[in-house]
Order: sequence, then C-alpha cells, then structure tokens
Amino acid sequence: MVIVTLTTRNRVWSALPPIGERDDRPLDLPHLDAATQAQVVARLLSPDFDAWSVAASRVGFCAKPIRLVGQSLTFDKTTGELVRSYGSADEPIGVTFVRCGNRRASECESCSRLYAADTFHLIRSGVIGGKGVPVTVGENPLVFATLTAPSFGPVHGTRPNHGRCRPRRDTGARCQHGRPLSCMAIHDQDDSAVGQPLCPDCYDYASQVVWQWWAPELWRRLTITLGRMLAHHLQVLPAHLGQIASLQYAKVAEYQLRGAVHFHALVRLDGPQTPDGFAPAPTSVTASVLSALVKQAAEAVRVTADPVHLDDVARVLAFGAQVDTRPVRTSSRTDDPDRELTPEQVAGYLAKYATKSATDTEAKDSTHLRRLHATARAMAARTVSADDDPRAPYGLLGRWAHTLGFRGHFATKSRRYSVTLGALRRARQRAQARIAEANRSGIPLDLRALEAELLAEEADETTIVIGSWAYAGTGWANDGETALATAAASRAREYAQERAQRRKQQSSGEK
Ligand SMILES: [Zn+2]
Ligand SMILES: [Zn+2]
Ligand SMILES: [Zn+2]
Repeated sequence: MVIVTLTTRNRVWSALPPIGERDDRPLDLPHLDAATQAQVVARLLSPDFDAWSVAASRVGFCAKPIRLVGQSLTFDKTTGELVRSYGSADEPIGVTFVRCGNRRASECESCSRLYAADTFHLIRSGVIGGKGVPVTVGENPLVFATLTAPSFGPVHGTRPNHGRCRPRRDTGARCQHGRPLSCMAIHDQDDSAVGQPLCPDCYDYASQVVWQWWAPELWRRLTITLGRMLAHHLQVLPAHLGQIASLQYAKVAEYQLRGAVHFHALVRLDGPQTPDGFAPAPTSVTASVLSALVKQAAEAVRVTADPVHLDDVARVLAFGAQVDTRPVRTSSRTDDPDRELTPEQVAGYLAKYATKSATDTEAKDSTHLRRLHATARAMAARTVSADDDPRAPYGLLGRWAHTLGFRGHFATKSRRYSVTLGALRRARQRAQARIAEANRSGIPLDLRALEAELLAEEADETTIVIGSWAYAGTGWANDGETALATAAASRAREYAQERAQRRKQQSSGEK
C-alpha cells in the first residue's frame, strides 16, 4: 500500500492526463516490492514532483526516456538573427527527456501507442487523403488483400460456426509416428492447442523456415506480376505502364499462431507517375477488377528456393491457397457497386497488425515455436555463412532465427502511398515547439495553415537550428519513477479508450 496525503494526491491527479467524469479511481501500482514503493513515495513527496510530472507528461509517460543535456539555438536563415534558444537548463529538472520510441508494447506502452496512431494516420491518409495527401486519392481503386503461407502440416485450429477441429470418420487413423490424424475437439481462440501441429514429427519445419526466408521475395514478385497483368488489361507494354497508371501499397506482416508470417496489404491504383503522385486512375480499372487481378497475381507467383545445405532439397514456393482480396469502398463512383470494406476499417486493421506483429513471436512461447527456432538455427549452422561468402543465399539465416527466418520489415509502403512516419514525427515536434512558443509569447496559434506548415518538407524551413547535445542516460532515476510513469501511461490509455468510446456513442446517436 502506498499512503499519500490529500495534497499530494491532488498534485498527482493534476499531473495526470485529462480526467473524465469518473475521477475517483486510484492510480494502479500493482505488485511493487518494498524498495520500489519507498521510491514511489519519495518521488510523490519530493519538492520538485510537479516539475517531474510535467516532464513525464511531455514524453507521454514513456517507460524509458532518453535523458539529454545541452541546447539548441534557432536562427533566421536570411537575417542570421537568433529567433529562439532552448536548453535543458530551461527545464525545471535540468534535463531534457526524449521518448524512447520503442514500437513494442512490452517495452514502452506509451511509445508503442504513438507508433500505432502514426501508422493509422499514415495508412488512413493513403485511403481517404489528408496529411498532405489530396482527398481525390479516395476515388482511386483500392484493394485489401490477405496473403498467407501455405500449409506445412495440419495444425489445431478454430473453425467457423463452432465446428470440430479436424473431424474424420475413421477417428482411429494414425500417422507413422502413432499420433491421431483427426481431432474432434471444438477449440476456442484461447485454447493453447490452437496453432500447434497434430504431429510435430510430420510437420515440415524446414520448409516453413525456407518459405519465411523468401516471403519478402514472393511479395516483390507479386508486385511485378501485378504490374504486368495491369499493363495487359490496359493494353500497354509493361514498360509503358507508368505513363498511364502506377501501383501503390502499404503492407504489414503478422505472425499466425503456427509461427508463419502472413501479409495484410492495401493495394491502390493511381494514374500516371507524376512528381506529386496521387493522380486519378484510368477509369477502366474498378476496385473489383483490381481485386481480381491481385488475386490472380498472388496465385501465380512462384519462387524457386535453393537447398539450404548439402542434404536439403530445392523448393518451389508460393503463397497459401487462402488468398483473400476485397475491394474497399471509398469512392462516390456509382459504377462500382461491390466495394465492401470501409476505409476506417482497413486503416484500423492494418495499424493494429503493425504494432501487434512486432511483439508477437517473443510473447507467445510454445513447444512448436521453440522447435521452429531450433530448426532455423540448425539450418543456419549448416549453410554457407555470410562471413565466408557475402552472396550466399542463406548466409544471414542465423541472424534471423529469432524471427523464425523472416527477414523483412513488419510494416512497409511504397514511396507514393501517403505521408511518411518521419514527416508525422517532425510535424509533432514542430507542433510542440509552436505551442510552447504560443504559451511563452501569449500570441495564439494561427490554425489556418497549420497542418500544411507542420508537414512541410525540411527544405521549406526558414530557420536553421544549431544544437549541441550530450547523452546523459536512459530511463527514469529508479524503479519507483518507472512504476509511476508506467501507471500513468496505462491511465492515459484508459482515458483515450473512454474518449473514443464516447465519440463512437455520440456519432451513432446522431445517425
Ligand atoms: Zn517510450
Ligand atoms: Zn484440434
Ligand atoms: Zn506423425
């Protein structure tokens, strides 16, 4: 138990994110040992607690912020005049805190949520415009595709309509290892058997590792094949496709329970490649046509993979049979009646997968995943390593054993899909600086052109910043401060969820 005075409690409360109608909930500080509790109490009662909580809230209660000391001087580019200066000495604690920026919720809840939010906006603006992307992009055909890995052996799973896992008439049938070939159970999502093979000795672990290794190449070839099919559809040479149309995409890789990566992708058809991008697509390609072409391309793609070592075999790799492609409803075009998903839905899905994927393999431990790891390591040990031959096809396999052979990025996009994460981050920093400036000077922010100004390219800057900063360490001063920041981050998440819930209820009430 942490005992605090009412004054301190009020101070903590005012330091926390905006409080809704229910402000009687205590801050959740579970399972702290005596030493950490003492640190929490010491921090709460410290004379500079206000300053600390302001600093913590500025980095969104990041669990492991970077501490910097130094200063930045901002000069006008043309006149050379000093416009403003900022230094860690201006901070009440004398240190500048910067977010850790970790994408994984297990490392930092606050930064991973920010990453998810940025990813959501990045994906959403490519669907309906905004953040510097013209809204007309919403008129261009858009497809949501899910591409899985093929089967490497039967696994336990949930079935539609509470169906049995792997029913068979001859329930006594067994594999050569004496394990049943059927499973009459009805598994639910939380069942630990889900994703585990019926027989680990029949399961083809080696092929899964090899498939995973080449999955990024399968995707690359899919985009090339799709381009060729589109050119054919539009009756132009593939080399001339760019003069009338271009493909843009955003994709996210996610681990299934069986440890196989699959891809969720948004594929959009734009008009001719122009420096600005986002031109209107040729009208002869509707979202339904594009959806059919993506499906065809995904089914056609093959990669021939060399053996990993002397006793291994060559494999012809393909995507799994369950290729799912759906048109997304975005446009007002009436000639396209069968668009299905809404833009908000797909942007939400992809952003969710983008943050989920980075954490998933380590979070879920199972005999099956351990064996997959072990297989990747054993294969890597037998292949020609990159140290001996930099061009060896599996030379770096050992370094990717922890991701079960998958060496791709978890979230990628083509250049002209929408805005970049970097631009969103820069915009946030600029916004913070503008707000701080407005607070200092008392001159209100000019909101009219603010978004465009915040998202502008670096080249448009009229000022130059000269900084000298030194790294002073990582993390809060002790476990007690970390516990406080983590608890506040969870509270901030609860408030955000409640606000979203209320907005949802309000908007459904208005309809
Ligand atoms: Zn963080
Ligand atoms: Zn089963
Ligand atoms: Zn078996």
